[in-house]
Amino acid sequence: MPPNPLLRVRRVYAEPAALESPRGRQVLGRFPDAAVVEVPSHWQIPELHGNDELVDRWVRVTTETLVLGVRKGLVTRPNGRSADFIAPGLSNGCAMACAYCYVPRRKGFANPITVFTNIEQITAHLRRHVARQGVKPEPDQCDPSAWVYDIGENSDCSVDALVSDNVADLVATFRGLPTAKASFATKYVNRQLLDLDPAGRTRIRFSVMPDDDARVLDVRTSRVAERIAAVDDFVAAGYEVHLNLSPVVLRDGWETAWAELLRQLDDGLGPAAKAQAAAEVIMLTHNEALHEVNLGWHPTAERMLWRPELQEAKRSQNGQDNVRYRGAVKRAALDTLRGLLAVHAPWLRVRYAF
Ligand code: SF4
Repeated sequence: MPPNPLLRVRRVYAEPAALESPRGRQVLGRFPDAAVVEVPSHWQIPELHGNDELVDRWVRVTTETLVLGVRKGLVTRPNGRSADFIAPGLSNGCAMACAYCYVPRRKGFANPITVFTNIEQITAHLRRHVARQGVKPEPDQCDPSAWVYDIGENSDCSVDALVSDNVADLVATFRGLPTAKASFATKYVNRQLLDLDPAGRTRIRFSVMPDDDARVLDVRTSRVAERIAAVDDFVAAGYEVHLNLSPVVLRDGWETAWAELLRQLDDGLGPAAKAQAAAEVIMLTHNEALHEVNLGWHPTAERMLWRPELQEAKRSQNGQDNVRYRGAVKRAALDTLRGLLAVHAPWLRVRYAF
């Protein structure tokens, strides 16, 4: 496999047990030139997470660093928005660097990928959890018949699949679970995933936003046009493909830009993709601590994201002090977006808007 510019790994911090595991050895085999540094815990790497001098090397750290750890707590949480359940992640962190990403909020001053190597325990946990649910008794907005498990809450699984076979193992697990479905959002087109034979049991949610916004905010992701162009291929390969209209960032001219994006989708997707498509609409949520970190490496993005005149503080479900568009601003924007959808992409059903 030729080296991918997203990951030129020079250093791997690893818990000893993760290092010795088959999955850990697989990761090291993919990055044989990386120096290995043993650490007692994947959460306790002060030179990474507690080092504020790393902020201006934010992107370089995500490119050159990996962490290997053993995931301790295996808990599946109820959700009800993107998915019925949030599965215990097979990783956290990301080699991309979207300016609004909430993943680094818990990771201090650096956000490299941490790969969890105990994948067999994660897949066994999920099989047990799915079995306990039985058959879904009635449709909900997540899915008419399958229990949907988000497998990528704190990472981008398309990039994780470059690092190890964890994603392939999860796709294979759900292929054998007729009452459930895996789901993950992504901003990266990894065509290796086309070979995994998901048999309809994995839903990929390609996140899209107007390209002018993405060029500032979606740092290192696949271009929006490439994501749109990939949809038909992923549907043909056996994935269910939904779209995340996310995040919606309010700025001068946003309505025109989103109308153009919806026309791009209408032109770019074939009949099979449109027939199965659905969308989540997610208005931007930001966070004061992340704002401070971002000012250190991407102040241009912060001028788009940090709009106190339109935003208000709100405590999130997980206890974070977030910043969201004010209620009336958000409602008006969602109404506008629904109107644009009705005109430019009437085939695109909105699963939920948030
Ligand atoms: S692709 Fe997702 S996980 Fe990665 S930086 Fe962007 S928002 Fe975060």
